[in-house]
Amino acid sequence: MSAGLNIAQLDAVNHLGGPCLVLAGAGSGKTRVITHKIGRLIQAGLAANRIAAITFTNKAAAEMRERARQLVGKAAKDVLICTFHSLGVRLLREDGKALGLKSQFSILDTDDITSILKDCGGTTDSATARQWQWTISGWKGAGLNAEQALAQASDENERVIALVMARYQERLAAYQSVDFDDLIALPLKLLREHAEVREKWQKKLGHVLVDEYQDTNATQYELLKLLVGERGRFTAVGDDDQSIYGWRGATLDNLKKLPQDYPELRVIKLEQNYRSTSAILRAANNVIGPNPKLFPKTLWSELGEGEPVRVTACDQEDHEAERAVARIQSLRANHKHKAFKDFAILYRANHQARALETALRRAQIPYKVSGGQSFFDRAEIKDLCAWLRLLVNNNDDPAFLRTITTPKRGIGHQTLAQLGAFATQYKLSLFESLFSHSLAAAVNARALAGLHEFGRYLNDLEHRARQTRGAEAAKAFLSDWLKDIGYEQYLYDSEDSEKAAAARWGNVIDFCDWVAQRCGGQIDDSGGITTEREVRSMLEVAQTIALISTISEREQEADQVTLSTLHASKGLEWPHVILAGVNEGLLPFKPDDDGDGAALALRIQEERRLMYVGITRAQQTLVVSWLKRRKKGREMVPGQPSRFIEEMGLDQATVKEDPREKLRALRAEFAARAAQAQAAP
Ligand code: ATP
Ligand code: MG
Repeated sequence: MSAGLNIAQLDAVNHLGGPCLVLAGAGSGKTRVITHKIGRLIQAGLAANRIAAITFTNKAAAEMRERARQLVGKAAKDVLICTFHSLGVRLLREDGKALGLKSQFSILDTDDITSILKDCGGTTDSATARQWQWTISGWKGAGLNAEQALAQASDENERVIALVMARYQERLAAYQSVDFDDLIALPLKLLREHAEVREKWQKKLGHVLVDEYQDTNATQYELLKLLVGERGRFTAVGDDDQSIYGWRGATLDNLKKLPQDYPELRVIKLEQNYRSTSAILRAANNVIGPNPKLFPKTLWSELGEGEPVRVTACDQEDHEAERAVARIQSLRANHKHKAFKDFAILYRANHQARALETALRRAQIPYKVSGGQSFFDRAEIKDLCAWLRLLVNNNDDPAFLRTITTPKRGIGHQTLAQLGAFATQYKLSLFESLFSHSLAAAVNARALAGLHEFGRYLNDLEHRARQTRGAEAAKAFLSDWLKDIGYEQYLYDSEDSEKAAAARWGNVIDFCDWVAQRCGGQIDDSGGITTEREVRSMLEVAQTIALISTISEREQEADQVTLSTLHASKGLEWPHVILAGVNEGLLPFKPDDDGDGAALALRIQEERRLMYVGITRAQQTLVVSWLKRRKKGREMVPGQPSRFIEEMGLDQATVKEDPREKLRALRAEFAARAAQAQAAP
C-alpha cells in the first residue's frame, strides 16, 4: 500500500487507531490518501464491510469504488462507499422504524416539496413556496427543528415559515416521506435518541473516511460524530480554500471544531502538489492569497514551470466558444496523441454551456455535460430541432415522425403504421407519401385528410421560412409557428407540475432568441471568421441548426471533452482546462440582491475559492477567457474581466487578444479608409 505515497501521506494512511485530519491544498493527494487507507485498513485486518468512505457526489463515490477495486481487488465491493445522503438512506432503511418510519419510505423531489409547502402555507405562489423551501432547508441543515426555528425567528416572515415548517413536517410523517435534508437530520435524530441503534452502528463501523470535509454542514458533522463515537476512528481530508458550498450551509467551523472535540486528533498537512505545473500553481496561490487563512499552507510542485497560463479576451460568448474549440483542435493537431477526454471547459453557471455546446457540435467534437443536462438533449429542444430539420429536408423520416406526433394532432399510431408501410412499399419518404395519389387506398378518409393538412402546413411553413429574414422577422415567424402547433399548451399538458412546464417553456423562449440572433447575422455558424450583421433567411439558419442538432452523440463514448460547472468539477483533474466567461458579474457572480459590507465580502471570498478550485483542476495548460460583451437576461451588456484574472498575477506577455479581434479591427480600419478615399474629391 505504500507505493506512490510520500511520507506525510503514508503517515496519514498508517494512522489507524484514532482520529486523523489531512488538511491540504488542491492536488496534494488527499483523495489518494483515502483510497490507499481503505486498502491499508483491510490489510490490517478490518473487515471491508466495517469501513465507510463518504464522498461528496455519487460520481465521486463511483470513482473511488473503482480506484479501491484496483488497489484491493474484490474486497472493495463490501466497503460502504457513498455520499452522506446515501448513508442516511441506508441508516433509515435499516433502523428508521425506531422513528416510526417504514423501511419503504419515499424520498420527495423538489416539485413534490413545493406543492406540499403551498398546501401547508395556503399559497399558490411558487416563488414564495421555493423561498420557504430554501429557508427550511437551511434550518434543517443547521440542525433546527420547527420549534427551535420558531424560537430563533427574527421577524414575522421567519415566524410564518417556522409555522409552515411544523405543518410540513407533520405532513411528511403522515406520507411516510422524507426530503433531502431529512436524509441527514433523521439519521442524526435516530442516533441521538436511540442508544441501541447508535451502539450498533458505532460497533459496526471500524473506520469512517470523509473526503471534501470542508463542505460538510453542521448536521453532517454531528452525524459523523455520533457514527464514530468516542474512539473517533475516522479520517477526514479537506481544504479550507476549496470550501464552495457555504451557500448551502457548509461551514468551516467543522474544521475548527475537530481539534477541540478530539484532543488526540492527528493533523497532517500535505504540501507537495502532484497535479499541476508551477505556472498553474502560482496563479492558484496568487488568487487564493487575499482570502483569510484558517491554516497557512504553501503548495509546491516538481512538475516544472510548464506553459504560461493564458488569458484571452473574446468579443462575446460565441466567439469564446469558437476559440475554445480552436484551441482543442490545435493542441490535438500538434500532439497527435491527445485525447478529447484530456480537455475540460469549466464555467460558473449552467447557461454558459450552450454556446460551448453549439461550437463543439459544429466541430463534431464529442463532449459530455457534467453537473447539468445538455441543452440539445432536452426533449423540447429536440422537438423544435426536429421541425427545423424537416423544413430543411422533407425526407428526414425520423424528424417527420417526431414532428407529426409532437404535439399530437389527431393522427394515431395506426395511421402512421399504414403510412410507413405505404412509404416502404413505394420507396418514398413519409413526407413524399403524403402527396401520392395511391395513399387514399392505404388509409381511411379521415386519416387522409389529417395527413394532407399536415403536409400543407409543412409546405406553407417552409415557404414562410424562406421569406423570413432578419432577427425581428424571425422572432415573429417562430412565435407564429409555436402558436400554430400549440406547443406551449402541449408542454403544460404533458407536465404534472406547472413549474416544470414553465422551465421547459423558458428553454423554448431561449432557443427562439438564439435562432433569431442567427437570422440577424450576429452569429454565423458557417465557420471561419464571423461576419457581423449579415442577415440570413430563417431557412438558411434552420439548415445550420439542423446540422448541429443531428450530429449524433456517440453514446457512452469515453473519449469526450468535459463541460462542467465549477462546482461540479471539484476533486477532478484534466491535462488541459479552459475557464470560460471569467467576467465580473459571472465570476464573481453578482446576484440581483448583491448585499453589502460583511455579507458581500464573504460572498466574494467564496467566489474566489471557486476560482481557485477551477484553476487547480488543470494539470498542464490553463486558459482563462473573458467576454467583452456578455448576455444579461435577454440583453447584451459590456463585459469586464473578473478581478480574479488580475489577482492571478500573470506576466502580461501571456495575456493574449483574440487574433480575430485584431482582424476585425483591421477590416473596420480598411473599410473606414476606403470610405474616406471614396468621399475624397
Ligand atoms: P483536490 O483537492 O482537488 O480534491 P486531492 O488533494 O484530493 O485534490 P488527488 O486527487 O488525490 O488530490 O491527487 C492529485 C493527483 O496527484 C492525482 O492524479 C494523484 O494520482 C496524484 N498523486 C497524489 N499523490 C501522489 C504521489 N504521492 N505520487 C504520485 N502521484 C500522486
Ligand atoms: Mg480530492
